[in-house]
Amino acid sequence: MISIRGLTKRFGSTAVLDGIDLDIAEGERVVVIGPSGTGKSTLLRCLNFLDRPDAGTIAIGDVSVDVARATKRDILALRRATAFVFQNYALFANKTAKENIMEALVTVQGRPREEAERRAREVLAETGLAEKADSYPAALSGGQQQRVGIGRAMAIGAELMLFDEPTSALDPEWVGEVLDLMRRVAAQRQTMLIVTHEMQFAREIADRVIFMEGGRIVEQGPPGQVLEAPHDARLRRFLRRVA
Ligand code: ADP
Ligand code: MG
Repeated sequence: MISIRGLTKRFGSTAVLDGIDLDIAEGERVVVIGPSGTGKSTLLRCLNFLDRPDAGTIAIGDVSVDVARATKRDILALRRATAFVFQNYALFANKTAKENIMEALVTVQGRPREEAERRAREVLAETGLAEKADSYPAALSGGQQQRVGIGRAMAIGAELMLFDEPTSALDPEWVGEVLDLMRRVAAQRQTMLIVTHEMQFAREIADRVIFMEGGRIVEQGPPGQVLEAPHDARLRRFLRRVA
């Protein structure tokens, strides 16, 4: 359902993504781990052109894009097929929780406001934030803000949800509720690509774990194999450090 071939991104002369090949099945949960600076965020950001990749192809559902020749229409199609959950939530400070969720529904999907508002209320109920609909981000805890961030991504109904370290900016007390919401999203058979350092969560939720280093996929497989019986020495070293 999702097929990435030869995805390459250079910043200056360094290849931050060095020819990534990756297929993701519908409903699959893929967790990406690896040391910082190895291109995990860049991989996610290139999939929806938050960063512009230099070479390769990205196919999501019936959208297929040769990234070097991507048109505006291709980029919009990829953005519609994906929903991004950011480490720092990236909510609009001057919009309420409900308005934050409505934003993409109105501006990217072109839905009428009343319909977007109905969808936002549904999602706020699902995320346990119904009573916070009219609160501004500054009045919400970190955990609540990130739940709005996830709700915004859920509302879009994208084929692929991208999570870039969604709990790493949170105080420890808020991590649990955000992981719980991600479990609920996973239970809906949503296709998910998740960068996280929460190894216990990865073990529990992932169909497949990918270890990246130096812009490449070094090892991948079921969590039981990658996390419990790693082959690659760099992966073993990484796991000792994060354990
Ligand atoms: P990770 O998410 O695995 O920590 P990133 O994808 O954020 O890694 O970054 C990978 C590498 O790309 C790092 O060396 C980083 O410094 C570099 N990089 C990321 N974004 C930029 C940018 N906009 N300009 C230059 N270098 C960048
Ligand atoms: Mg990162």
